Formats: sequence, C-alpha cells, structure tokens
Amino acid sequence: MKRRVVILGATGSIGESAMRVARAMPDRIEIVGLSGRNNTGRLLELAREFPEATLCAGDEAAAKQLSHDLGRTVLHGEEGLLTLAALPEADLVLVAIVGTTGLKPALHALENDKDLAVASKEILVMAGELVMATAAKMSGRVHPVDSEHNAIFQCLEGQDPSTVKRLILTCSGGPFRKADAADLASVTPEQALRHPTWSMGRKISIDSATLFNKGLEMIEAKWLFGMPMERVDVIVHPQSIVHSMVEFLDGSILAQLGSTDMALPIQYALTYPERLTGPCAPLDLTALGKLEFEAPRNDLFPALDLARRAGTAGGTLPAVLNAANEAAVDAFLSSKLPFPGIWESVARAMDEVPFVEHPTLDQLIAADHAARLIVGS
Ligand code: NDP
Ligand code: MG
Repeated sequence: MKRRVVILGATGSIGESAMRVARAMPDRIEIVGLSGRNNTGRLLELAREFPEATLCAGDEAAAKQLSHDLGRTVLHGEEGLLTLAALPEADLVLVAIVGTTGLKPALHALENDKDLAVASKEILVMAGELVMATAAKMSGRVHPVDSEHNAIFQCLEGQDPSTVKRLILTCSGGPFRKADAADLASVTPEQALRHPTWSMGRKISIDSATLFNKGLEMIEAKWLFGMPMERVDVIVHPQSIVHSMVEFLDGSILAQLGSTDMALPIQYALTYPERLTGPCAPLDLTALGKLEFEAPRNDLFPALDLARRAGTAGGTLPAVLNAANEAAVDAFLSSKLPFPGIWESVARAMDEVPFVEHPTLDQLIAADHAARLIVGS
C-alpha cells in the first residue's frame, strides 16, 4: 500500500530522517505536503525534490519568495499548516514541529480522518487527553514516532492491554550522567548540546541534558497508551540500543532494539503495520559487546519528579511544565539562565500558575501563556 504523507517540520532533524525513509521507498511513500519555518533554503531544495508537494512557509514574505522561485502557490503560517493537515490527497500527517505549534494542525488532521504520526511530544504533554479523545472519535490512528514510544507500540502489538504491568522507558542519561551538582551549575549551552548517542534538534538536546525529555516522555506515554503515571518507569541505559520495554503480569519483559537512528521509528510510524527494508543500518550486537542499565539520579535531575507530579495531577499542570520548560530552554540557550535555572523555573511556574482540573483547549493555552510569562519575568 502506498502512503501519501504530509510532513510538518520537514526542514528539521526529524524531517530530514523522514526524507531518508521516503527516498528509500518511493513506491510506498509519496510526499504530498511539506512545511518549514526559518530555513527557507532547505524548503526550496525539498520543493524541487518533491515537485508535487504542497508547501507551507513560516511567513508571508518567505511564501512569496518561494512562490516566485518555484512558480507555484505556497501557503504560510498557522492557516497554511491547517490546510496542509487536511489536504484531501493525504493519508497521514507527520507532526515534527518543535514545541506546541503542531497541536491545532494535529487535531485538524484527526478531525479530517487522517492518520497521525507524532514526533512533537510537547503536543501530547500539553493536550494528550484531547488528542487521544479526538482520535478515538474519528477513523485515524495515532502512531508514535518518539523512539521509546514507538518501541512500546511495537512491544504491545497483539498483547492484551490488561496483562501489562508497567512501561519502562529507557534514557541515555544525557551528557551529564556522571556529573555532580557543582558541575551542573556551570554547564554551558555548547556542553549541553553535545548528546552522547543521538544527533537531534537543539531543544530536544537540551531536554535530554536536563532529563526533561524523559519527563515529557513519561506524560506522553501516559496518554498514548492509557497508562497511569505510577506504571510508567524510567531506567538509564547509556548505549540507547534498547529503545524501551514493557513488563507483563507474568514477569516477562519485551523490548525493542535497534540502532540509534530515528529513521527506524519514523519508518514504522509511516508504513505501519508493514515492516519493509529501509535506510537503517542493521544492528551488530557483537560489535556493541554490552548493554548497561542503571537507576536514574532523581536527586541531581529534578525533571523526572516534576514530570511525575504533573502527569499524576493532570489538568493544566503538564501544559504548565511543558511551556515553562520551553521558555527556560530558550533562555538558557541565549545565556539568560544558568542550567539549573531550567528546572527551578519549571518548578516555580508549576507552583504559581492557577490549576484547572478539567481544562478546555482555551484554558490549556491560557495556562501555557501564564507559565511562559512567569519564566520570562
Ligand atoms: P528541529 O529544531 O530540528 O526542527 C524543528 C522543525 O519545526 C523545523 O522544520 C522548523 O522549521 C519547524 N518549526 C519550528 N518552530 C516552528 C513554528 N513555530 N512554526 C512552524 N514550524 C516550526 O527539531 P527536531 O526535528 O529535533 O524535533 C522536532 C520534534 O520531534 C520535537 O518535538 C522533538 O521533541 C521531537 N523528537 C525529536 C527527535 C530527534 O531525534 N530529533 C526524537 C524524538 C522526538 P525551520 O527549521 O525551517 O525553522
Ligand atoms: Mg525519545
């Protein structure tokens, strides 16, 4: 079966890996829509490679320039993303925009009966209940792209959900796995951006260094798999080869293993339920030699406890955690906040933004704005 795919965030790291998958199987994947924001040069190259794709640029000026260069209409901004999400010729929309900008397009794609492949974990942290409820009402499915959730998705196939004891997310531990509190106080953006096992965009690289990435993933897992927070665990696995695991009532643990290449989970999310030869190098376990596991250092990295608290309370608290973290990461990257200031800002926003237990989308957006203001102030 051929899948006709829209990629929101095509000019980013996930977008690039998705292109490698699409190029490896042109008879199975057709790119029908592409979006970018600031990297107009890359969007132009992709537009030339995929001349049939509908395009969406970041703003009107970029859209006009691209339209002039290509001799075809180019959409832009939020309206453009919504149009791409509902393209009549699309079967599946891959949301790979960093942050929560992809939330409304994701909901719109589901409302138009598209399948959704979700890389943007922030949208599930902010509004996972709403995304999953929308998917349940419509005919589209939600396929996780995040490597941990894609692994769990694979381990759960054909299993009775009532026999699952817990989900175990693996975590590389980030670049500061062996640091102490004094080291963390002076971490620079350059040091924090150097991830030991994965090559990724800037925001998620910082999230991996603070362990907020794993915290966001705990909440993401809760919504994707309908699992209470107390049954979502984290284990540090420095090699990032076991992408995650599921423990069952009988004591069996199923795991998914693969090389550290996002093309693998992206491919499974795009071609599900088929397994096809793709661009990923095979895994050589003898070359690796050993796989290690250890407990996370919750004392040093408060992100996991903050995320557990937010995920357990629900309501607006995950949206506050997510927005405060986004704002704090921006401030850290522009050297306005020290590294520990990221989790200190998140904790402050979680204490200060008024809590709403059953929020509407507008209330979630208001909580998100309030959290950003607190971090910015
Ligand atoms: P990048 O920063 O590399 O790419 C982000 C993409 O989103 C780019 O195409 C960018 O356009 C676009 N974009 C950014 N802001 C906006 C906006 N406000 N409106 C429209 N488009 C925008 O990020 P990644 O690819 O690393 O990550 C994307 C998402 O996937 C994140 O949510 C991340 O957590 C998740 N993820 C990433 C993984 C990875 O390995 N990279 C692994 C698992 C999950 P432009 O560059 O043209 O400005
Ligand atoms: Mg991940």
